[in-house]
Amino acid sequence: MDKFKHLKQEIKFHFILQVLIAFFITIASYVHFPFKSLKGNVIYLAHFLLLHFSLFGFVYIFSLFNKIFKFTFPILFVLLSAISFWVYTQDLTIGVGTIQAIIETNIDVAVDVISFQFVFFVVLSILSIFLFFKFYKKHRKASVKSPLFIASIFGILTFFLVENYKFDAFKNRLPYSVYFGILKYFNKPNVKLKKIKEEVYTKENNLHIVLVLGESVRADHLSLNGYYRNTTPFLSKQKNLISFKKVYTPFTYTAKSLPQILTDKSIRQKNEFKKVTSLYTVLNKANFETEWIGNQSLEKSYKDIIYSNSTVKLIDKFHSFLSFKKEKDLKLLDYFWVDNSHNTNKITTLHMIGSHWYYNNRISKNFEVFKPVVSSKYLGASSKEAIINSYDNTIIYLDNFLNKIINQLKKSAQKSILIYISDHGETLGEDGKWLHAQEHIASKNPAMLVWFSDVFKENYPKEINQLKAKKNDSISTDFLFHSIIDICKIQNYNYLKEQSIFN
Ligand SMILES: [Zn+2]
Repeated sequence: MDKFKHLKQEIKFHFILQVLIAFFITIASYVHFPFKSLKGNVIYLAHFLLLHFSLFGFVYIFSLFNKIFKFTFPILFVLLSAISFWVYTQDLTIGVGTIQAIIETNIDVAVDVISFQFVFFVVLSILSIFLFFKFYKKHRKASVKSPLFIASIFGILTFFLVENYKFDAFKNRLPYSVYFGILKYFNKPNVKLKKIKEEVYTKENNLHIVLVLGESVRADHLSLNGYYRNTTPFLSKQKNLISFKKVYTPFTYTAKSLPQILTDKSIRQKNEFKKVTSLYTVLNKANFETEWIGNQSLEKSYKDIIYSNSTVKLIDKFHSFLSFKKEKDLKLLDYFWVDNSHNTNKITTLHMIGSHWYYNNRISKNFEVFKPVVSSKYLGASSKEAIINSYDNTIIYLDNFLNKIINQLKKSAQKSILIYISDHGETLGEDGKWLHAQEHIASKNPAMLVWFSDVFKENYPKEINQLKAKKNDSISTDFLFHSIIDICKIQNYNYLKEQSIFN
């Protein structure tokens, strides 16, 4: 009888504790979904309950170490509540970028973000956990002999089973996201950048390259490439525009594909630890202005490459593709302008959030041309038709975005060229697969476009003929590094001229 009473008390302790964790920490990762689809909501509820079951597992094991638990758990709880406040109110994404900001940001910046609501929330969290531990301290009888111990093992197993079933299903949510963000932050970057010793220079002047890095845009959904829907109405009317249909990358997610596209690393390079050279490092040496304007949160794998630019502007670095408050790409253009005042060479890189799932969040309402669109972040809740409609609407947005840049560049007296390349493609229901990071050819065939100004055309007739001749060739993303070095007329630097689309 006594044993049964203990078990009941134990269950009560852990149940209330999980409710507190839910209220102060985990629900924040769930409140920002569209609540329109019933099926989607049922799935998310199941997801939430499984997450709590796994958390119970870890907390129970932790509570076996009575003394450490008693002191550390409340501290962790309050710290996580403080982070959770920003996820509740700002839909902030917890990842390497946010962890870096928390660890490296100056105190005076931190003071700026502290509001009355924040203080209230944290005080409430402190009070709750303090009172809870005060009133229920006798209920906490964790022991390996308790049936709850067996349950906690199953809880921990749930974590690994769910993660195995769907990559990052739990890791992206509080409180796990904090742990994995910290882990990533302290991990060594997997791309090591080389310095260049050569006295690199250029014979070129007054050249402006605009490199637009797209996201999840597959080549065959552009009407320019023969897609049956008119997804590129503006670009189709632009002369001086060439589309390369057959670009190949084996890397189907950003963290892996960008470091390859922006360096001399070949898609065939097997040695992950070999040092590589950033495109911007070479151009800096040749006195190019290098400027990065980005709308994606930082990933450890390409952070150093971004910062090899001489100026870096990240417009919305604390919101990732996971966030419903993520800034739209047109905002990037507030920081983009052409400058005719001096004769220097320049490369501007615009890094888009592009067509990353959840598609509806990438565009404003007036770009919803194809309908019906998706209504839930849970893929299974939408029809194939709606998912593809929403995806194609992001291509309409891209068409508008690139057209705006081109129209600006037309006003420039510089030799201007725009190169657009998506980091990878997207799978849209082929073989029952969706989104990217998929082993399907649709994820490995990114869209790629080149536009050049009339001034550029006059100066590079031979190169433009080459572009036209090569547009139907099968090329790999290796082309980018060598093509840009080539068109910039970089001297005293060894590169693979045969890889250049201008050669
Ligand atoms: Zn990507």
